[in-house]
Amino acid sequence: MAKTSLNDKERDTLSEANREFVEYGSTMKKCPRCGKPLVYQIVGTKEITRCSDGSCVMLLAVGI
Ligand SMILES: [Zn+2]
Repeated sequence: MAKTSLNDKERDTLSEANREFVEYGSTMKKCPRCGKPLVYQIVGTKEITRCSDGSCVMLLAVGI
């Protein structure tokens, strides 16, 4: 399994964090893998919720 693959629990945590970033502009959730803060970015039409450690977990969502 690639390092960036998420298990269901990690995916859930990042999905919730993504929703909080969209709704509130921030999240108290931490990276499910290493505990560092999570970062939210919009790149083009993509939403990226990722660990502040760039090589850790990342969830990509394509916006409308
Ligand atoms: Zn991490």
